Amino acid sequence: MDNPMFLEIVKADYIDGYRIELWFNNGKSKVIDFYDLLDGEVYEPLKNISNFKSFSIRFNTIEWENGADFAPEFLFNYESVKNDADKVAEPPAEYTVAATADSAPVLNAHNKDEFPPAHTAEHLLNQTMGRMFGCERSRNMHIERKKSKINFQLDRPLTADEVAEVERRINELIAADLPVTYEFVTRDNIPEGVKLDKLPEDASETIRLVRIGDYDVCPCIGTHVQSTREIGNFRITSTSFNDGSFRIVYKVAE
Ligand SMILES: [Zn+2]
Repeated sequence: MDNPMFLEIVKADYIDGYRIELWFNNGKSKVIDFYDLLDGEVYEPLKNISNFKSFSIRFNTIEWENGADFAPEFLFNYESVKNDADKVAEPPAEYTVAATADSAPVLNAHNKDEFPPAHTAEHLLNQTMGRMFGCERSRNMHIERKKSKINFQLDRPLTADEVAEVERRINELIAADLPVTYEFVTRDNIPEGVKLDKLPEDASETIRLVRIGDYDVCPCIGTHVQSTREIGNFRITSTSFNDGSFRIVYKVAE
């Protein structure tokens, strides 16, 4: 794709066997036969067909009850042998841009279910990873109340010391109780250094910027805490590295 966009899966319909039809936020749908993908500790249990049917859409991708999931980008690009040809389809009705009052800026649709403390911690983590390791903000994350997963593109895994340092810095930012503030700008008034490439191509002209103190600013329409102390405590519970993707699993205190 010339113009990278933040791919999301917005709907999944079971068909038969191991086939599921997936609907993406770019208006395309495709049928994927998952059977060949069900290898490894997390995916193996899904060979049991009743486990396989236990999927739902959670945080912009398909996720099974046991926590197994796939990145939307991966599934969008996956060439399944038994695939139907990609077809352009109307997005499902439940995926609609939020209706707003006439005077209110029209913003992009966003998953509103994200747990605000965990989602706000995601902002801090994105900025911290960028500062420490020069990586881009993540395009692949599942933010939940219980535990959140976020993947960064890196050429190596972080060491245990580095992981501890990331955690320490974020807890320092939480303790500093930085205010979360909002600002509406038009596309041609975006401050320097703020990237819009995570937004869908059809993103609205009015963009909401979210600032956390002077530490981070990025476009987002999610729900945040009012100041960072509400995040409570940030803990990285595990990390893993696979083919240029470094995954951080974290929890915030409730
Ligand atoms: Zn946000």
